[in-house]
Amino acid sequence: MEYEPVIGLEIHAELKTKTKMFCDCFNDSDEKQPNKNICQVCLGHPGTLPVINKKAVESVLTVGLALDSDIPEFSKFDRKNYFYPDLPKGYQISQYDEPLCRGGKLSLYLSDDPQESLKEIEIERVHLEEDTGKLIHPEDKKSTLIDFNRAGVPLMELVTKPVIHSGKEARLFAQGLQILLKTLKVSKADMEKGQMRCEVNISLKPQGQKELGTKVEVKNLNSFRAVERAIDYEIQRQTQLLEQGEKIIQETRGWDPIKEITYSQRTKEEAQDYRYFPEPDLPPLNVYKLFDFKKLKAELPELPWQTKQNLIQTYNIPSQGANILVQDDKALLLFKETVSKLDPEYKKTGTSLTDNYLTTDILGIKEKEGLNWEDIRLSSDNFAQLINNLASEKISSRVAKDILLDIIHSNQDVEEIIKTKGLEKISDESILISIIEEIIKDNPKAIEDYKKGKENAIQFLVGQAMAKLKGAADPKELEKLIREKITG
Ligand SMILES: [Zn+2]
Repeated sequence: MEYEPVIGLEIHAELKTKTKMFCDCFNDSDEKQPNKNICQVCLGHPGTLPVINKKAVESVLTVGLALDSDIPEFSKFDRKNYFYPDLPKGYQISQYDEPLCRGGKLSLYLSDDPQESLKEIEIERVHLEEDTGKLIHPEDKKSTLIDFNRAGVPLMELVTKPVIHSGKEARLFAQGLQILLKTLKVSKADMEKGQMRCEVNISLKPQGQKELGTKVEVKNLNSFRAVERAIDYEIQRQTQLLEQGEKIIQETRGWDPIKEITYSQRTKEEAQDYRYFPEPDLPPLNVYKLFDFKKLKAELPELPWQTKQNLIQTYNIPSQGANILVQDDKALLLFKETVSKLDPEYKKTGTSLTDNYLTTDILGIKEKEGLNWEDIRLSSDNFAQLINNLASEKISSRVAKDILLDIIHSNQDVEEIIKTKGLEKISDESILISIIEEIIKDNPKAIEDYKKGKENAIQFLVGQAMAKLKGAADPKELEKLIREKITG
């Protein structure tokens, strides 16, 4: 029998507010000293009262507006009761039946496949709650430490409808959401730092059947790779069980990123186990009285899918390049500035070269050398000069790459480098031929090999000639001339 995977995501993101959700403590995810940003409110001392952080509410509403969610007039907070040592109050203030945002959609806009990138993933709800503290298990295993710096940090929870069908779709959704949260400046959404965390619900449905299968939840997915791999693994595991005639157990599973398998953690609590009830210490919210929605809408930045579409339409660059630029605002700025400074005569080739050299070479060097954008000295003026020289075929691509490596660190004037190092491409055939004659004279073995049919001998000769010319020639041109010269 064929099974259809049905997947829903729950994504938590820590909001980047100055203070915590219900008190004045600093919300600083980089604080290394444990239990520094704490007070009676976030420690749940008796008699203290929470006060709602307006900025946190605004952040979630902004996300809702960007996702085109419904924003109901009334919303309220509820107590979610459960006992765990990292939860100092013994309950979490969350939202149950009246979340801030309902519905909405996010497309898989980061996909390079145009069909897939139009697919819209429907959203169930987006709500606001508080984060828990952190349990630290020292190596001696005799004790557990608690750091409450994170307790009470505003946490956004987004739940999708069960409309995702593969690990890849889930990853593309999560990646797209991360970029949206960064673009809206509401969360740093760094998964490695736990600022964005994913849980997935997976069930298998026999093809053609309406009813959903038994749901398994996988928690603690701390990377996009983990999201994709855990889902693919679960689909495989559950298919195998069903094919063997066994039942799927409703449970929560963990993810082992080393072995790349899921493992059973506990059977799932039902919602009533949490004994939700309206938070008596907080008033219901009427967000339309608290916020000017016209202003909130007007203040939305260009959303990442709009940016991507604009890049493709305006600059005619491929989806892949656009995806990279959408994810890196510094690279995007450098791209736009550079293109605006290109020689109009070579605008089309130059734009495509700018995209290539930026998204492949510059970002490649940045990653390889572990650089930050602040370490990259290259200015858009100088980058445009480099591209102009390349597009007009004044320099070869090999020379351009050498210069690029230099100017990333120094921003030394491109024209000056070309002049002082004599890197201008030599297209004067008589000069090329005289160099080739030298090479042929110096490498009789390679010539013999070539005549015997060894094709790579020619590449060796081209390499020798390029080295002699310091890369200032077109290798294809050289190859043609060498062949002509040898075969006479
Ligand atoms: Zn506090």
